[in-house]
Amino acid sequence: SLYDDECDYLFKMVLIGDSAVGKSNLLSRFTKDEFRLDSKPTIGVEFAYRNIKFGDKMAKAQIWDTAGQERFRAITSSYYRGALGAMVVYDITRWQTFENVKKWLHELREYGNRDMVIVLVGNKSDLVDSRVVNAADGQSFAQLEDLCFMETSAKDNLNVEDAFLHMITKIFEIA
Ligand code: GDP
Repeated sequence: SLYDDECDYLFKMVLIGDSAVGKSNLLSRFTKDEFRLDSKPTIGVEFAYRNIKFGDKMAKAQIWDTAGQERFRAITSSYYRGALGAMVVYDITRWQTFENVKKWLHELREYGNRDMVIVLVGNKSDLVDSRVVNAADGQSFAQLEDLCFMETSAKDNLNVEDAFLHMITKIFEIA
């Protein structure tokens, strides 16, 4: 069953962003503390869980991954349905993935919940030498769009916990 008896809340969250920005690895880092250097397994995981305690309440975070469907523009409205939070991810070493954040936000606004908590994430912050999107670029865009912003590295496990927990805490606050 989706609900554990000891869980008070179930929060659906979605990961979106261009292919290969690191969505699957952010998810596996957060839910299993795993990172893979090769690309994703052939059969993608659709979602993963992690339980988060808030005082005496327990929230089950159900986080959905596109499992590669974004490559075929095959993400449907059911992916977004019921989601309370979205993490929009780009790769700091590829400008186009940052540019496409606008497209993803547009899709979110079309299909997603009105008051969804959205976090903008610039991933692969460990790749300092190939960086093309500055933290300031991400920050000012996020400010414009009224989003929370963080840079992460799924590889080095930097800020991954913070980014997810920030989103989950915000959802808990409005739940
Ligand atoms: P997705 O298509 O957005 O789910 O991206 P993946 O999680 O499959 O990652 C795509 C590629 O980027 C893989 O080769 C990963 O190992 C790599 N990758 C993901 N996150 C990071 C990161 O934080 N740093 C570095 N250096 N590589 C990463």
